Amino acid sequence: MSEGKMVIFSAPSGAGKTTIVKHLLSLGLNFAFSISATTRKPRGVEIDGKDYYFLTPEEFQSKINNHEFLEWEEVYPGCFYGTLKSEVERILQAGGHILFDIDVVGGSNIKKQYGDKALAVFIQAPSIEELRNRLLNRSTDHPEIIQERIAKAEFEMSFVKLFDIVIINDRLEDALLEAETNVNRFLKGTNQ
Ligand code: 5GP
Repeated sequence: MSEGKMVIFSAPSGAGKTTIVKHLLSLGLNFAFSISATTRKPRGVEIDGKDYYFLTPEEFQSKINNHEFLEWEEVYPGCFYGTLKSEVERILQAGGHILFDIDVVGGSNIKKQYGDKALAVFIQAPSIEELRNRLLNRSTDHPEIIQERIAKAEFEMSFVKLFDIVIINDRLEDALLEAETNVNRFLKGTNQ
């Protein structure tokens, strides 16, 4: 039996969770990043098989039909994301802990399936206005997409109660430290 544990980071887009996830991956805590599958196109320097498995809608649908996903969501209209069972098995078999960077619905789903084996962390941006600024500054998305993400963020806030801890990403250094402390405590088995 594997000793691997799971840490789930979920947040409204732009709340800064990817920065926190990257920081945790750099600490040498034996984490492997769960590479999700998606039907969206690669952005900037993203690499297939590293950031995501970029699939066509047909390939994604065929994996849904074959029950290859642990969870999947249409995160934005026409844009599918999902965690492949094979990805989780790959990491656990290699003896690692798994770090998930997924949306709040997927995150709460995985938490429900794995209970105490998983630490579910909700990263909250300080305010909707702040979230809007961050998405605009990132400027990799069209204005309509940014508007969609903000509307969605308001809905996503309602999932907070299904998570073990909430980190408000106001000052990044504080959020990084808080994430690190909680994750270390969880891996040592002293918080639940
Ligand atoms: P982005 O397109 O900005 O990389 O991600 C958009 C949203 O999809 C983010 O909230 C991200 O966490 C979420 N996401 C990424 N992978 C998965 C996944 O495997 N399952 C689910 N449910 N959401 C995901």
